[in-house]
Amino acid sequence: MKDPLRERTEQMKLRNKPNPHSIAEGAAARPQEPTFGARSLEPSRRVVESSFASAEPLGRRALRSSANTRVVGPTPEGSARTSGFYPAHVVHPRLVHEEHRGNAKRPLRVMKFGGTSVGDASCIQRVVDIVRAVARESGVVVVVSAMSGVTNKLVEAATQSGAGNRDSIAAIFEELRQRHLTAAHLLMPAAEQRQPVVRKLEEHLQKGERLCLQTVLRGELTLAALDAISGLGERLSVPLVAAALAERGVPSEVIDATELVVTDSCHGAAEPFMDLTRERCEARLRPILEQGIVAVVTGFIGATVEGVPTTLGRNSSDYSGTIMGAALDADEVTLWTDVDGILTADPRLVPGACSILEMSYREASDLADLGAKVLHHKTLGALMQRGIPLAIRNTFAPDRPGTKITPTPSSNKVGVKALTSANDVALLTVRASSALGAPEVLRRTLATAAAVPAHVRLIPQSCFSPCEICIVVPKLVAEPTIEALRRDFAQAAEPESVTAVTLNSAIAMVTVVGEKMLGVGGLVERVLGALRSENLIVLASAQGSSQSSFSFVVPASDLKAALVTAHRELQLSAVS
Ligand code: ADP
Ligand code: ASP
Ligand code: MG
Repeated sequence: MKDPLRERTEQMKLRNKPNPHSIAEGAAARPQEPTFGARSLEPSRRVVESSFASAEPLGRRALRSSANTRVVGPTPEGSARTSGFYPAHVVHPRLVHEEHRGNAKRPLRVMKFGGTSVGDASCIQRVVDIVRAVARESGVVVVVSAMSGVTNKLVEAATQSGAGNRDSIAAIFEELRQRHLTAAHLLMPAAEQRQPVVRKLEEHLQKGERLCLQTVLRGELTLAALDAISGLGERLSVPLVAAALAERGVPSEVIDATELVVTDSCHGAAEPFMDLTRERCEARLRPILEQGIVAVVTGFIGATVEGVPTTLGRNSSDYSGTIMGAALDADEVTLWTDVDGILTADPRLVPGACSILEMSYREASDLADLGAKVLHHKTLGALMQRGIPLAIRNTFAPDRPGTKITPTPSSNKVGVKALTSANDVALLTVRASSALGAPEVLRRTLATAAAVPAHVRLIPQSCFSPCEICIVVPKLVAEPTIEALRRDFAQAAEPESVTAVTLNSAIAMVTVVGEKMLGVGGLVERVLGALRSENLIVLASAQGSSQSSFSFVVPASDLKAALVTAHRELQLSAVS
């Protein structure tokens, strides 16, 4: 699936030239981040911890590599890679916090925290509580997003630099500086602890400004520069999280994902090379985990084999979390966010949406593919092959169970599970005369869309005429797709076979998801009937493959009403 950020940047007509500055600043040249050690001998216990201390991995016994069953001895003085990173004043974690010590029997958990979960100092304190409790019994890799809104600001700074607006760049970086420094002051009141973090933040902020000014001088924003700039948000949040963990007695080490996640060079939607990524994670993370140190890794970013920074796509820290989980063959990956797991519908649109305890891989990936913001659409792909369970939990209500996603949940009922929707899409309709036949018109329509390239999200049937061929594509590529269709059909040997090609950008797509739900008779008719009785127009509809989804297209202005109506008709409030 194409990524919106990439599509947007393509629309901005940015030229994809290699960026020599980014290459120079690639992973290979990057100095090691500092390790934060524990300070307190008396870790305080909080109420929240009890709900994690007993939490078992989600029923999966990982087959561990032999490296993982090694019993870890004391770190040889000066020889272990991490021992040299502890500042002299920091007590070595092994002497400090016996319960955090790594050993072969400890399960391994990857915990990803989203932007709102690390939005300010008080949120980061919650993260520390959660990680600290889990780290008592498990090896932990923490994957961190940028603070909420920061990536948007960085993208804006990059765009402004492409337009030559120096003042806007300075203002944005000043705002980011204040936000991160405020968090650093609140999290580390003592200057001694705060200073190395402040230095690191300043280093990243100055680098961001430099990259923007280079773009101003170049007179254009390349995709490589956009990645290097937009990926700084995660680099700014990890030092805060790692240092906050250390403040509370949890030894931690910052690791930049450009050292771990090796990707192709598709800037804005890079894909990892999993074999190389696995090798790097084993080499870099395993020794840290074996020493009982929590690895704090940047989400969202990676780097090419040459070390050029890339991003995996907007909202993709979820994917970073599952890449890490798959690479290390973790026992469990948990995405910590701001809602109680996956809900029966987007809570911003359906007030009665409630959380779903269990889902299958298929249900969750259908939801993610078809628009649910709570899961990046590539998230499940990384885990499926290895059967690693995925949990979605609420950072702000960690005692609630959230959602567990496994290959085949034991208590998974057949039937509708949830609704999802997308409004960043457009409907293209090709009206065919009888001369060529609808199947051939459809074949040519799909070939033309593929050449654009436009990712066809849905091929629904028109609710108005069997002669109409419909496709749903991302809004950002709708214009070029309709131009290509008009051109191709006009040039075809039988131009009269298509009488009109039209575009409707004011639409939304709603999808009903549930394992084998279309086996439940009359379900589609019930939903369409309920919409009709509310006078809601359905423009087109489609059944997904393998009976597990059903989508329909409505005018964008009716999206909320359509979701609420379908949610009520399917009695989804009773699911949880
Ligand atoms: P994070 O920053 O933690 O990755 P996101 O903002 O990307 O979080 O995703 C969580 C948000 O997704 C929720 O706050 C909610 O508004 C939205 N959302 C949309 N659909 C759903 C759904 N079906 N279940 C839960 N949340 C959803
Ligand atoms: N910070 C990135 C974004 O806002 C990645 C993420 O948060 O998942 O897109
Ligand atoms: Mg997200």
